[in-house]
Amino acid sequence: MNLETRILSCMTGSTLLTEISGVGEALAKKFAVLGINNVTDLINYYPRRYEDFSSLNKISQLKPGNVTIEAEIKQANGRYVRRGLHITEAIASDDTGSVRLVWFNQPYRAKALQSGKKYFISGQYELSRQRFVILNASVELASDFPLNTARILAVYKETKGLTSRQIRAAIFKISDYISKLPESLPDHLVKSHNLMSRSAALKALHMPQNSSELEIARYRMGFEEVFNLSLASLLNKLENQNENALSVEFNEQLVRHFVKELPFKLTDAQRKTCWQVFRDMQRSYPMNRLVEGDVGSGKTVVATMAALEVMEEGYQVAFMAPTEILARQHAETIFKLLKPLNKQDELVLLVGSMKEKDKAEIRNQVKSGQKKLIIGTHSLIQDKLDMHKLALVIIDEQHRFGVEQRKTLMSKAGHMPHVLSLTATPIPRSLALTLYGELDISVLDEKPAGRQHIITEIISPNSRAQLYKKIDNEIEAGRQVFVVCPIITDSDVLDVNSVEKVFEELSKKHFKHRKVALLHGKMKTDEKQVVMEDFISRKIDILVSTTVIEVGVDVPNASVMMIESAERFGLAQLHQLRGRVGRGAHQAYCFLLLSDSAAPSRRLRALTSSNDGFKLAELDLELRGPGAIYGVSQHGALDLRIAQLTDVKLIAAARSSAQEFIDAGDSLLKYKELASRINRLRTVTNLN
Ligand code: ADP
Ligand code: MG
Repeated sequence: MNLETRILSCMTGSTLLTEISGVGEALAKKFAVLGINNVTDLINYYPRRYEDFSSLNKISQLKPGNVTIEAEIKQANGRYVRRGLHITEAIASDDTGSVRLVWFNQPYRAKALQSGKKYFISGQYELSRQRFVILNASVELASDFPLNTARILAVYKETKGLTSRQIRAAIFKISDYISKLPESLPDHLVKSHNLMSRSAALKALHMPQNSSELEIARYRMGFEEVFNLSLASLLNKLENQNENALSVEFNEQLVRHFVKELPFKLTDAQRKTCWQVFRDMQRSYPMNRLVEGDVGSGKTVVATMAALEVMEEGYQVAFMAPTEILARQHAETIFKLLKPLNKQDELVLLVGSMKEKDKAEIRNQVKSGQKKLIIGTHSLIQDKLDMHKLALVIIDEQHRFGVEQRKTLMSKAGHMPHVLSLTATPIPRSLALTLYGELDISVLDEKPAGRQHIITEIISPNSRAQLYKKIDNEIEAGRQVFVVCPIITDSDVLDVNSVEKVFEELSKKHFKHRKVALLHGKMKTDEKQVVMEDFISRKIDILVSTTVIEVGVDVPNASVMMIESAERFGLAQLHQLRGRVGRGAHQAYCFLLLSDSAAPSRRLRALTSSNDGFKLAELDLELRGPGAIYGVSQHGALDLRIAQLTDVKLIAAARSSAQEFIDAGDSLLKYKELASRINRLRTVTNLN
């Protein structure tokens, strides 16, 4: 056994890269920059794209673009044309003709080429100084197994000093190991769906023999991703149905009374959602429902009705908002909604910035059952509250509640509370079903009557002056303005306007006759509080902020949303921001400012033509992938890297396979590989 086969025979997923021949300490450090430390990391480092050099061309028939030839190389020589610019030139010939090869700054080239040998040469055939040449070609001795020429080449995300070529070389070194990787899906699934084996698929993903093999490999990996996610969430759902919850009787009279006192008529969507919630809460296992509704679709009323039912039953509700500002706003809104029923005194706000003494008092009121609806931030979970009568948790602007958080609550309450999540991020149905399979979903797809259309315009940098004039007119008429920037402080790397810079310019220059204030996430809670309250009470004309104001804040008098460097934001996020205005009687505007005079993207243009959050979310998904919608890519945990959520057939097949797996009572214990993947996903699919 030689050294290499010996290393291979004891290679495992955690074998370090330095154990692979050809990867020294220095190169391993470069790999580490990409998060690749061991063999498993390397296998999981999927190519970003592919370049097809697989078809062999005859020199006489070359056309501009990516080409591959099989040829002999003659007259290779290199020279410095000037300091810092080295050129290597050579002639490649086959039986149909010759072509010139040119490399820039690769002085080692000439020496490496042997005359009289056949090479595969792959590169760009293009015009250079009025001659057609193959530029910066990859060259390999012709063989049955070329690595960097004459095939479909995997192109990876690179880093300084580490090229795709080097990554391919490392992958090649472990290709025998990849071939021996065990199957991770149940065999019967692989058979019945005609899937490529995991090992073959991974090998093909990195080193495809041809495009059809690549396609089959991608299908297999995509199928596995969706199957795993679906199975994890279905198992979570099953587990949830085995928990105990406090059953809440439906009190029709109370609901009727509440609805009668509302200053408006509920939309049909609100009505339907309420029924679904009431029905869920009557059960003895916990509700786990997500209400999706565009900004302004009226989620708060729905949540309040759910809370009311629980309070009437003598149980308690925890209502959690993402920020203190929002918690305060909710408390005020809901206080008003409960007043006609004389239940407003059962509500209490409990937030971190309150005095310890007041908090202690509130905790007592909660413990005694005097307060039944506790509104706060997510830190309510960590609070020393006695919540043994907690029957319902409402989470605003969060997709779901993590497994850990649920367990904490369960241990506190002694049972699992019903969970109602509210989100204004419209998640397209295909995505929701796949990723949130454990949740039941209600959709508020109907805008309350009389909602105005927000005029949305894209503004190029040279139209700023006119825009400021327009904005000043709005302020003159008594309106208020939001200005949102993508970053807090100016950065050397990003050429975008920061809150600090914009605040400086607006307050000292363009709007020095107006009241301009600054708000961002690094400020202290009470400072933010003061600014926000001043804005709500109209002491401030222009609020310059980061996206801290993104969710929920309700200032009906604000009529202008101006977004700096709008191209830096996701579509869903821009739509959310826009939803901060247009809540009052006045015509509202959303101005999307571009950092430079480049043409606006399709994403931004879509905003000017549509006010429909669901449509925009579908488009966002199409344009940017699932990560755009709720930060999957940042978490990196959801592992949807291959599956296209627009691939309806694949999703349906993989999802129903997961359901069948459960229905068949198949045990995960039988599948070691699968079980470890699923168990990991079961915790991370419950993202916060
Ligand atoms: P969101 O879904 O964005 O949380 P809110 O619950 O804050 O929306 O509601 C936005 C505004 O719409 C509130 O002022 C609320 O009182 C009002 N509203 C809610 N439902 C209706 C309705 N059916 N008709 C008219 N106005 C409504
Ligand atoms: Mg809301």
